[in-house]
Amino acid sequence: MQAEIITIGDEILIGQTIDTNSAFLGKEFNKIGVSVYQITSVQDDKEHILKALEEAEGNADIIIITGGLGPTKDDITKHTICEYFNDVLIEDKDVLAHVEHLFEKYINTPISDLNRRQALVPSQSTVLKNRFGTAPGMWLERNGKVFVSLPGVPYEMKALITYDVIPRLRATFKFPFIKHRTALTLGLGESAIANRIEAWEDALPSFIKLAYLPSLGRVKLRLSGKHNNRAVLEAELQKQVEALLPQIQDIFVGYEEDASIEELIGNELKSRGKTISIAESCTGGKIAQTITAIEGASAYFKGSVVSYATEAKVDILNVKEDDITTYSVVSKEVAESMAQNVRTLFNTDYAISTTGNAGPTKGESDAEVGTVCIAISTNEGVYSEEFNFGNHRQKVINKATNKAFEMLRKEILKK
Ligand code: ATP
Repeated sequence: MQAEIITIGDEILIGQTIDTNSAFLGKEFNKIGVSVYQITSVQDDKEHILKALEEAEGNADIIIITGGLGPTKDDITKHTICEYFNDVLIEDKDVLAHVEHLFEKYINTPISDLNRRQALVPSQSTVLKNRFGTAPGMWLERNGKVFVSLPGVPYEMKALITYDVIPRLRATFKFPFIKHRTALTLGLGESAIANRIEAWEDALPSFIKLAYLPSLGRVKLRLSGKHNNRAVLEAELQKQVEALLPQIQDIFVGYEEDASIEELIGNELKSRGKTISIAESCTGGKIAQTITAIEGASAYFKGSVVSYATEAKVDILNVKEDDITTYSVVSKEVAESMAQNVRTLFNTDYAISTTGNAGPTKGESDAEVGTVCIAISTNEGVYSEEFNFGNHRQKVINKATNKAFEMLRKEILKK
């Protein structure tokens, strides 16, 4: 079963609106076992829309169109759909009553002719009521194919998809069952993992696929299964996960379906009754922000010092000026001192620190752009590592943040 998405709107093509509708639709179709064959964005232009519809009809069984329904858009989509289906627009009484009700309730004015046009729909269409706006959704069928035209406003489109379109599609077509299991890993690159699990991957049944999703030092292994029999699918997926886990035990953190990596690490701290504090320089508070985004983080997170300037490291964190002069502000020695002293300051079991040079210029140290030193202090000592995370500022910050969590997890699991 294939679907095609057509998004309409000049603003998408000039980059003013980011096409988040397609991303949402892609995810929703994936959940019900429908593959999206193509996503097309076209201008508010009859010829372009007609061309896209024709192509989509040749490719797919389900064609979803979003946008171009507003009263100010000259009803371009509706007129074009009518032309495509050799149909005429008729006024739908229920839509008109709904538009009138919205105007009466929220705008307090009688509707204009322009708004009245929102109640015009192709005569062959089934109207899908828009709970959050005026432009209705329209469902049309031809030769066993379904066409759905929806408003472009994301929350209006989402509600129509969830409450109307997906249930109707389920009633119209028979979809396979889909299930994903995503293993979160830390500490090994994509190709090293691929080498390790090659034999297992090669032996996967054809209805289960593996995807490697690498991102800044982390790799997600996503198993996706598609089958007409739910019990067969679930049993096989479970069997494959059980065969995979022993091979990735050292890098496996948990399942994405349960929680994020940071949350899983937080849970490790919580279950052990341990606490943490942070001293950040080049990551500028990103580690603390990532921790505090998790609900209930106050159970283990005590606080953070963003000691960005050298004098802040000296004045607030008591890093010795001598160490800065001797080893440089971006050094393992300074990172270790930051971690030890912030741990004392907040009286925590663990402390992480970062000091580095995120670029694009060298800043207060001579360290190469991308150099980051990360230290972890515990009541048993302090440990640090030096890395180079490249020359893109945001990437350096994000990679350093990810690496800090990876090092922290290793340290926690030692006990
Ligand atoms: P309405 O009748 O409520 O105006 P519409 O169908 O006419 O809806 P558009 O006029 O095309 O929709 O777009 C309305 C707004 O919805 C746009 O300004 C834009 O912010 C948002 N929007 C449209 N298409 C998309 C899209 N593909 N992804 C994300 N947002 C979109």
